[in-house]
Amino acid sequence: MKILVLNAGSSSQKSCLYDLGGDLQDNSQDSPAGKLPDTAPAPIWEAMVDWTHHQGFAEITVKTHRGDRWTMEIESSDRAEVITKTLATLWTGETAVIADPTAINIIGHRVVHGGAKYRESAIINADVKQAIADLAAFAPVHNPVNLAGIAICEHIFPNIPQVAVFDTAFHAHLSPAVYTYAIPYKYTEQGIRRYGFHGTSHQYCRDRAAQILQRDVKDLRLITCHLGNGCSLAAIRDGQCIDTTMGFTPLEGLVMGTRSGSIDAGILLHLLRQPDMDVDKLDRLLNRESGLLGISGMSADLRPLIAAIAEGNPQTKLAIDVFVHRLRSHIGAMVASLGGLDAIVFTAGIGENAAIIRALTCENFEFLGLHLDQQLNEQRPIDCDIATADSQVRVLVIHTQEDWEIARECWSAEEKGKRKKEKANS
Ligand code: AMP
Repeated sequence: MKILVLNAGSSSQKSCLYDLGGDLQDNSQDSPAGKLPDTAPAPIWEAMVDWTHHQGFAEITVKTHRGDRWTMEIESSDRAEVITKTLATLWTGETAVIADPTAINIIGHRVVHGGAKYRESAIINADVKQAIADLAAFAPVHNPVNLAGIAICEHIFPNIPQVAVFDTAFHAHLSPAVYTYAIPYKYTEQGIRRYGFHGTSHQYCRDRAAQILQRDVKDLRLITCHLGNGCSLAAIRDGQCIDTTMGFTPLEGLVMGTRSGSIDAGILLHLLRQPDMDVDKLDRLLNRESGLLGISGMSADLRPLIAAIAEGNPQTKLAIDVFVHRLRSHIGAMVASLGGLDAIVFTAGIGENAAIIRALTCENFEFLGLHLDQQLNEQRPIDCDIATADSQVRVLVIHTQEDWEIARECWSAEEKGKRKKEKANS
């Protein structure tokens, strides 16, 4: 089975192709045709389109499992034109890995907002597309580009099923006490409630954690910490997310690279009353100029901030102190929601790479019997347990594989469809 995954951002587009039916490499080589491997295989084709380098130009990079690499800069802001050219490298030129578009069996799209309606992935039809379009009111930057990707694929791959994998779906089981904001209830009825995001990453980490610990996911109380440019936590019990830090939008919760995370709503009222402020400026301030960048005045990227602390820069130290304080206090809140903790998972750019952040975070949870093995923590751990043998809480570092999680959702959707057909025919 060949699964194409499209993961669209506002100014970038990642795509990849997994082949589960042979001509695989590495850890999936022994997989029988069509079987879902236990661990993520390497994609046979990967493409990245980036519109941020050079205004009006798209930079395309494509690589294959054979080691072929192709890069190109196209003068175009037309998303459809650029994505169509990128996808054509699947079957043309030196990066070709399939004979023609019909070789693909199913296509998965990461869709940011599925609202309260979509509690799981959905095979895309007219209703699903309409819902994604309607939910653009809540995700104005992302849902329209997700819809554009779907339309492009319908054109290039007619009759090939497409699946929407919603970032919000993993959090669909939050209870009303968790998702309701304490504002007049009519707004909750209009959809202003907490949804949660980064669902594909938290879901992947849940399953990978259970695999690494050799435990049933239903027996684990987990906190997954997705710490990248965007940061969020998920509290998982009985396999379901019961609490999370992001809310109505991905702005709530932890301090992030350029996003403020939670702040006193009174600040927004105060700022909006200033003569030089308007809604668009406030949006930019909170989403693009805050977080680590805002406090440090230097960078949204943690690496130069860590380097600058060593040089005695107090502002970067403050940025990291605020980041860690917020992280610890939200983890504490998640422990309270769970009523205990079996394992904590660190993932994404910061979670996977920044040993100092893991160490500072874990330091304050020794009262739970959580003990980090400092040596293991420093040894660039990936997909392993870095708690001491006697720690009562396991600490895992997991390399998140969101694209593979989307592919797994496609595979499940296909299997469900097959079973439905068999039932109808029997
Ligand atoms: P992501 O959104 O998952 O790609 O994560 C991006 C963030 O990870 C960057 O902004 C960096 O702050 C952080 N990051 C990546 N590598 C490292 C590293 N080696 N040490 C510290 N932070 C890192």
